[in-house]
Amino acid sequence: MTDGIDADDDGPLAAGDFSAWLAGMHAALRAEQESDVPCGTCTACCTSSQFVHIEPDEIDTLAHIPKELLFPAPRAPRGHVLMGYDERGHCPMLVDGGCSIYAHRPRTCRTYDCRIFPATGVEVDADDDTKVAIGRRSRRWRFSFPTHADRVAYESTRSAAASLREPADAPPNATGLAVRAIERSDSTSSRAHDD
Ligand code: SF4
Ligand code: SF4
Repeated sequence: MTDGIDADDDGPLAAGDFSAWLAGMHAALRAEQESDVPCGTCTACCTSSQFVHIEPDEIDTLAHIPKELLFPAPRAPRGHVLMGYDERGHCPMLVDGGCSIYAHRPRTCRTYDCRIFPATGVEVDADDDTKVAIGRRSRRWRFSFPTHADRVAYESTRSAAASLREPADAPPNATGLAVRAIERSDSTSSRAHDD
């Protein structure tokens, strides 16, 4: 929140070279690193009626969130919890426009990256009007494609998302679909490079 990007602006934002971004996103999904989204002043993630999943090994995070804000995550193993949101759809840890537990925030927040939507062609708010702000932000990103490998990786990611839209295999929401497409793009793009 220090780079001067205006959350209310509608102009394009540089998303980086596609292959480099995809490699970083794969590492984030494997919990090897945090996402590096240049969020600027945007807090759309924290104000869009999202349940934040926290795993039992996130001891430091759990120590910084009041227990009354957490409840067991449905259909998840014992110890997995969710943090809800207030009547405005805001995370209760968002205070004065910033995360009050930033250094201790959940892994879910550390790895979230709204560039997964333009990367996969998935529309975040197509069927959910609580995600309009994330959708507006995600449509501003513009990837760069300086090499053929960037184009191959991009096409494989879009293909993975398209194949996941089949009704029998479709994840339950836009974020789930985009994340699974990114995960699948790993093997898909590797095969493309081998051809
Ligand atoms: S919507 Fe994107 S830019 Fe905005 S806070 Fe979330 S990850 Fe950052
Ligand atoms: S914990 Fe912090 S980063 Fe995560 S949703 Fe809440 S305010 Fe945002």
